[in-house]
Amino acid sequence: MSNKLSGIGASNGISIAKVYILDEQPIVISETKTTDVESELSIISSSIEKAKADLLSLQGIAKEKLGEEKAAIFEAHASILEDPAMAEEFTSLVKEQNYNAAKAIKEVADKYMAMFEAMDDDYFKERAADIKDVTERLIRYVLNMPVADLATINEEVIIVAEDLTPSQTAQLNPKFVKGFACNIGGRTSHAAIMARSLEIPAVLGLKTILHDVKEGDILALNGETGDVEINPTDKNEWEKLANEFAKEKDELKKLKDQPTLTKDGFDGFVLEGNIGSPKDVEAVLENGGEAVGLFRSEFLYMDNDHFPTEEEQFVSYKKVVDEMNGKLTVIRTLDIGGDKKLSYFSFPEEMNPFLGYRAIRFTLDRKDIFKDQIRALLRASAFGPVGIMFPMIATVDEFLAAKQFTLDCKADLEKEGHKIGTDLEIGMMVEIPAAAVNAENFAKHADFFSVGTNDLIQYTMAADRMSENVTYLYQPYNPSILKLLKMTIDGAHKHGKWAGMCGEMAGEPDAIPLLMGLGLDAYSMSATSILKARSIMSKLTLKETQELANKALECETSDQVIKLVKELMENK
Ligand code: PEP
Ligand code: MG
Repeated sequence: MSNKLSGIGASNGISIAKVYILDEQPIVISETKTTDVESELSIISSSIEKAKADLLSLQGIAKEKLGEEKAAIFEAHASILEDPAMAEEFTSLVKEQNYNAAKAIKEVADKYMAMFEAMDDDYFKERAADIKDVTERLIRYVLNMPVADLATINEEVIIVAEDLTPSQTAQLNPKFVKGFACNIGGRTSHAAIMARSLEIPAVLGLKTILHDVKEGDILALNGETGDVEINPTDKNEWEKLANEFAKEKDELKKLKDQPTLTKDGFDGFVLEGNIGSPKDVEAVLENGGEAVGLFRSEFLYMDNDHFPTEEEQFVSYKKVVDEMNGKLTVIRTLDIGGDKKLSYFSFPEEMNPFLGYRAIRFTLDRKDIFKDQIRALLRASAFGPVGIMFPMIATVDEFLAAKQFTLDCKADLEKEGHKIGTDLEIGMMVEIPAAAVNAENFAKHADFFSVGTNDLIQYTMAADRMSENVTYLYQPYNPSILKLLKMTIDGAHKHGKWAGMCGEMAGEPDAIPLLMGLGLDAYSMSATSILKARSIMSKLTLKETQELANKALECETSDQVIKLVKELMENK
């Protein structure tokens, strides 16, 4: 086996550190009856102690990182383990029916989960997910399986895993987690997006890395090229690369307070940052962002154990708007479903969840949930310019329904005496080909567009953005995508509206010259890409980007388009 692997560079940066193997094998519970009741009971009680100790230490860490309120969930989980009735049931299954420890815990957990799930009250329904979390941890201890708590990592490591879920990624502390390398995932998977917002270098889609490394190995990774080396032979070479990367970063920092200008002085392009939580705003401002072009509000829902209330959401949105201090904040309404699940809500089983009940389709159906968010957003708009943006819009009717609902909520709030901002815009994401093709009609009603290329490409090419088996089809530079972008931008401009982009393509160095030529107005990207984008724009005239875009629209293949861009940028 070679010690060199090549994957998909998903978040820039060079790292060298010890591996931390996150190998969460699925739990398999044997049916074998025990012949040693005493030993089984002692395994249960020692596992309960270990799980409790974990949860209390997690609570301490979460308190520091996420605040008292969010940390309380771990205390609640620890208290489930202290429940005498539950412990009594474990014991009697082992004693009376000779169940092995894991089977006894699973049986009792399933019973409690079913009981909570059957209750009418949403609060109690949500407790089923808590029981699952806690008892799975307990069973892992019983079976001597590794239990991962990423938030407790307190030395410099690179995490190696099959995949990282968005909520696992949210636990990572960039002070200690120097990078991550996963078997699956690509540039637009949510793990990649989170990695960029946390500025953690990442390489994904490595297929076999989890199998190739062992405890104690050192890993070196390049988050730009996707190169990974296990126990690097030439550590100096890697350190040199890391220094060069740091030097380029320092150079770019000089552009932080500079205006965004093309070489010929055009100042109409706006560089914006994508954020997943209020704490990411700092990075956007630090990197010279001129607005927040996408606040993915779903992370407020995913990092929680209940649907966040109007008040909880208002506090988060207001925080971002306040910190942006007069600059625009575009907040996307709940984009849940697909790969984004909630621990406290069961989505219906579907064959193709990415094409199913998600995002605006879900919120228009669940106005009770939508209402809390829209009211919170409208109230936050009193503190600065806000754009409310609806995800996954396919039809004009959907957009009109969501817009009317927002206007109705606004009228209610005004009646209640709330102030609503005057700089409020209501726009939509263009991430379904139907919306791009019909952009001109949408632009009569929407204040702005923001193209979600991560989804637009997957739906146009019929290529799952998460699948490393079809990455060859994931082609931002395919002329079919460029034509959809042109329709979208031209459609917006025809009705005097602005067109932005908040998919990952907006921050790709090779895409920026093309997008400038197509006339894209706003570019929203991971904070760490903003300064590079400013530097690229400063090297190009409008005329040369327009010529480039026109030629690209005539190309037949993605490679031909990339070649044109490379030729233009070669001597810049
Ligand atoms: C997109 O689809 O491009 C987008 C920005 O949304 P998300 O990546 O959250 O699906
Ligand atoms: Mg999307």
